Amino acid sequence: MGTTNSSFDAVVIGAGFGGMYMLHRLLQQGLRVALVEQGADLGGTWFWNRYPGARCDIQSMEYSYQFSEELQQEWEWSEKYATQPEILRYANHVAERFGLREHMRFNARVEGARFNETTARWSIPIVDGETLTAQYCVSATGCLSSANVPDIAGLDSFGGPIYHTGSWPHGGVDFTGKRVAVIGTGSSAVQSIPLIAEQAEHLSVFQRSANYAIPAHNRPLEADEVAGIKGRYAQFRKDNSELPFSAAFDNSEINALDVSQEEVRAELERRWQDGGLPFLGAFADLVFEQGANDLAADFVREKIAERVNDPAVAKLLQPTSIVGCKRLCVDTNYYETYNRDNVSLVDISTAGIDEISATGLRCQGELHEVDAIVFATGFDAMTGSLLKINFVGRNGVSLSEKWAEGPRTFLGLCTQGFPNLFTVSGPGSPSVLTNMIPSIEQHVNWIADCIDYLNRRNLSGIEASQAAEDAWVEHVNEVADSSLYPGCSSWYLGANVPGKPRVFMPYLGFPTYVEKCEEVVANDYAGFELLAATSQ
Ligand code: NAP
Repeated sequence: MGTTNSSFDAVVIGAGFGGMYMLHRLLQQGLRVALVEQGADLGGTWFWNRYPGARCDIQSMEYSYQFSEELQQEWEWSEKYATQPEILRYANHVAERFGLREHMRFNARVEGARFNETTARWSIPIVDGETLTAQYCVSATGCLSSANVPDIAGLDSFGGPIYHTGSWPHGGVDFTGKRVAVIGTGSSAVQSIPLIAEQAEHLSVFQRSANYAIPAHNRPLEADEVAGIKGRYAQFRKDNSELPFSAAFDNSEINALDVSQEEVRAELERRWQDGGLPFLGAFADLVFEQGANDLAADFVREKIAERVNDPAVAKLLQPTSIVGCKRLCVDTNYYETYNRDNVSLVDISTAGIDEISATGLRCQGELHEVDAIVFATGFDAMTGSLLKINFVGRNGVSLSEKWAEGPRTFLGLCTQGFPNLFTVSGPGSPSVLTNMIPSIEQHVNWIADCIDYLNRRNLSGIEASQAAEDAWVEHVNEVADSSLYPGCSSWYLGANVPGKPRVFMPYLGFPTYVEKCEEVVANDYAGFELLAATSQ
C-alpha cells in the first residue's frame, strides 16, 4: 500500500512487550509496519526501570509470551520472579528470534499524530525526524511509563543528583557513603529501599501513605517444576486465562465471611508463607466485602508488627487502607530494613514535604540533609503516555480535549472520533489488574485480527460508536463500584496526580472481558462503525 519509506500500513508506537508483539503479528500478515520508540532501545518498562531490586511480581513462567510454543519451550527462566536484566534479555531474545529489530526506529519520539479524514490515514511526525503516514496507528505506550515527579517547592535548587525509579541511569548508581532520600513507598520503593539501604551511609524514607507488602519468597526455579509447566504449557496458559487476574493466583471460591476466623487465619498464613500477589486470591470476597478485607488487613498489620523492632516505626508502616485497593506490594526484607541503624522513616502523611533546599528536604520545619534524592513516586498511569502524544482525531478534536473528564474508550481498544487508532492495554481494559503479558497478547491478537478483517473486505477503517463507548464506560464503572477498588486514593483512579480526573481506569475481570471482545467480533464488530474504502 505504501509508496515511500515513510508510508506504512501501520505504525506501532512503543517497543515494550505490547509493541513488539504487535509488530510481529502485523509483519506476519504481510503488512508494511514501522515501530517507533522514544527510548534508545527496546524493552519498554524493563528498559527504563533499572532501579536496584527491580523485578517482576508475576512469576516468570507466566510473565512471558505464549504466542510461540517454541519460544516458551526454549527460554529458561532462572528464578521464580525474574529480575529486570533477565526480562530485558528475554525481550532482546524475542526481538532477535523474530527479526523485529530491523523494523524498529529508536530515539524516535512521536510529536503528535493527526487523522486525515479525507485519506483515512494517520500522519505521525517524529521529533527531529520525518513524518510517517499509516492507515493504522497502534499505541503500545504502556500503562506505567509516564513518570510522576511531584512539583515540590525548591526542587531545582537541590545540589545533588535526583533520580526517578522509572528512568534509572543505565550505568547504575553507587550510593556508597551517601545520605539518600527515597520519596514514596509503593512497589518500586519497596523493591529498591532494602538494596539502597545496604549501600548508603544513611537512608531516609519519606512516607505519605503506608502500603501493604507481602513477602516474595523468591527462589531459583527447580528443574522439575519448570519441566512440569513446560510439559503442559498451553494448558497452563489456558487455565490461567480463565482466572480473574489471568495469573495463577490459586483463587479461592470460598468467602472469608462464610468460614470461621481460625480458618481465615490459617489460609492467610498459608498464603503469606507462599508469598506474593496470590495473597489476594485467598478468599473470593476479599476485594469485594469490607468485613473480609478487614480480616486480611489485620493479619498483615500483625505481620508488620512482628517484623519491625521499634513499635512506633511499625505503627507508621501499618496501612489503614483497604488491602489490594492500591496495588499490593511484594517485598524481600522491606520491613526488616527499618530495623537497620542507618535507615529512618519520615512520616509526611499530614504535612507533606515543605520544600527541597540545596542540601535536603524540609518537613514540618526540620531539614533532613541528604546527598541524593530518589523519587519512587510512580506514574501518570494509563493515560499519561497516551495524552503526551497529542493524538488529534476527527474535526480537529484532541484526545486531551475528549478525555478532559477522564478516559473514554470502547473495550479499552478504541475511542470514538479517532478512527483506526488502537490502544494496547488502554484505559477501560483489564491491563494493570492482570498479568500484563497475556493481557497484551489478547489485545494484540484482537487488533491484528481486526486489521486483517478490514483489509480482506477492502475497508478503510474502523471507529468505535458513541453508544457502544458510553455503555462500556458505564459498565467499567459499575463493575469497579461492585468492588472495594475505588475505595482509596490509588493510581487506578488517577488520584496520585494532582488535577487528574478521578475515574477508575482498568476493567475488573479478565475472562468476562475476553468474552465481550469475542462477542463483538462474532457479531461483525458490533459497536464499531466500519468505514468504506476511500477513493484516495
Ligand atoms: P506507586 O505505586 O504509585 O507509588 C508511588 C509512591 O509515591 C506512593 O507511596 C505515593 O504515596 C508516593 N507519592 C506520590 N506522590 C507523592 C508526593 N507528592 N509526595 C510524597 N509521596 C508521594 O508507584 P510505583 O511504586 O512506581 O509503582 C507503580 C506501579 O508499577 C505498581 O503499582 C505496579 O503496578 C508497577 N510496578 C510493578 C513492579 C513489579 O511487578 N515488581 C515493581 C514496581 C512497579 P501515596 O500512596 O500516598 O500516593
